[in-house]
Amino acid sequence: MSECLFCKMISGEIAPDKVYEDDDVLAFRDISPQAPHHVLVIPKEHISTLNDLDAWHAPLLGKMYLAVKEIAKQAGVAESGYRTVMNCNQDGGQTVYHIHLHMLAGRDMQWPPG
Ligand code: 5GP
Ligand code: ZN
Repeated sequence: MSECLFCKMISGEIAPDKVYEDDDVLAFRDISPQAPHHVLVIPKEHISTLNDLDAWHAPLLGKMYLAVKEIAKQAGVAESGYRTVMNCNQDGGQTVYHIHLHMLAGRDMQWPPG
């Protein structure tokens, strides 16, 4: 059994607040939302960090972004806008080592991010 928190959500060992799922991707609400709408989009394949991506993962990354597009449409924020972020390793602010795309919406985003 995997020790990875997000793999446990994929296997069903932990039940996330799911907003989207297909064969390759799962998306659920962040437990500590940083915006009115804060969703994490993860690949069903365990990949620890962006540094572990291989060339054959390229379509999978595309599917993660297509999931974001669908989630934004369903949440009614596609036109008002949203931000996507992927953090990598300590300086990037990564705390869960299964890659995930943050999708934040529902407030004005600041630039540059902190
Ligand atoms: P990172 O800091 O790695 O970019 O993002 C990890 C995210 O996972 C954080 O925004 C954190 O709030 C979220 N998170 C951590 N534990 C859980 C959990 O048990 N459930 C959910 N839904 N999100 C979590
Ligand atoms: Zn994992």
